[in-house]
Amino acid sequence: MLDLIRELFPICRSITGDGIRQTLRRISREIGADLHDVPTGSPVFDWTVPQEWTLRRATLCQAANGRVIADTHVCNLHVLNYSLPFRRRVSLEELKNHLHTMPDKPKWIPYRTSYYKPTWGICLADEVAKSLPDVEYDVAVDTEIKDGSLTYGELFIPGKSDREVLFSTHCCHPSLANDNLSGIAVACELAKWLRERDNALGYRFIFIPGTIGSITWLARNVEASTRIVAGLVLSCLGDPGAFTYKRSRRQTTLIDRAVEACLGSSGRIRDFIPYGYDERQFCSPGFNLPVGCLMRTPNGEYAEYHTSADDCSFVRENALRESAEMIQKIVGEVERLHARLDSRPGQKAREGTAIGPGTCYRNLNPFCEPQLGRRGLYALTGGHASVADLQMALLWVLNYSDGRHDIDWISQRSTIDPKIVQHAADLLERANLLAKES
Ligand code: ZN
Repeated sequence: MLDLIRELFPICRSITGDGIRQTLRRISREIGADLHDVPTGSPVFDWTVPQEWTLRRATLCQAANGRVIADTHVCNLHVLNYSLPFRRRVSLEELKNHLHTMPDKPKWIPYRTSYYKPTWGICLADEVAKSLPDVEYDVAVDTEIKDGSLTYGELFIPGKSDREVLFSTHCCHPSLANDNLSGIAVACELAKWLRERDNALGYRFIFIPGTIGSITWLARNVEASTRIVAGLVLSCLGDPGAFTYKRSRRQTTLIDRAVEACLGSSGRIRDFIPYGYDERQFCSPGFNLPVGCLMRTPNGEYAEYHTSADDCSFVRENALRESAEMIQKIVGEVERLHARLDSRPGQKAREGTAIGPGTCYRNLNPFCEPQLGRRGLYALTGGHASVADLQMALLWVLNYSDGRHDIDWISQRSTIDPKIVQHAADLLERANLLAKES
């Protein structure tokens, strides 16, 4: 697994383009996954498949003496992912408007993205940025954004039953090892093991770019999604931390019970929150699939997260091995419980009566998250470890506005001030994404 991670590490991936395609082709050689191309401009629920981004090279040099400050051939995190092409001499002042750093981690280069806001940018270690003299700089961001396609990989291993278990892993991050080359490596290991096994259930693996990939896959597989009786998003599985399981939105489904039984007291169990990886889409209220997320140390909770320090030395073969073995155990438990419970596929959460006496809303766009960015409701630069309360409140209100959960309930579960939650609901109502439940 570590060999595969080392091989894939140098590739500059993004949500589209040659980097992710090259990665998917390598995965396909490993396990025989099929590659699917979805053309730029294809509508997928509230979103549109974006144009393709390709990085050739980005450099930042001191103009007078040619001193190289940043070069993506040394570390591809130096370029803002999806940066527009830009080639010009700039002052330090102008440059500063396009620099991304992490003052609290001055030695590391941050991973930052700008998929949906067209701009150029360079990411630097904060101590390097702070030491830049007030002179001119030559910026050469050699990127290309053009019509093409979004590519994802998919492998289905049939079982005796037509019901399926989904394993999903994002593969859009550039040179970052734990998030999420570890997920890719563990998924490949698992696929090889399942292929040799006599399976009671079918197993579907999808290798997708984060967010837009799961939205695209769901848009094209609404019918297949009804056969999913359990699923796991796999991420951050190579660090030495203890296992962390984030429950599905429904909290007590087959996968929740199986993982909790397998992890026992050694694992950390967390309730579902509508923030994190692609479980956000699988567990959007319209789908509400029985899909949880298995990690070791969760996203945003280890110092190296989304920085140049999440490199191949941060992930360990024994941690990867232990992760793969844990998921094999979970597979066994899922099959054992499924045979006993005979869960109905695509079973939706019981609607029940309203929780809380206050105002309830209904999400008018319940299948996957709506694209908040283009409505001016969401930060357009991604990659930060935490997001502001209002941003988080928007996601909470969207996910739990199923007509049953009132504002107070959402505020309590999210621990966000009720005034902020109400403000988020007002903003979403104004954007025609939400309606008061009568
Ligand atoms: Zn990430």
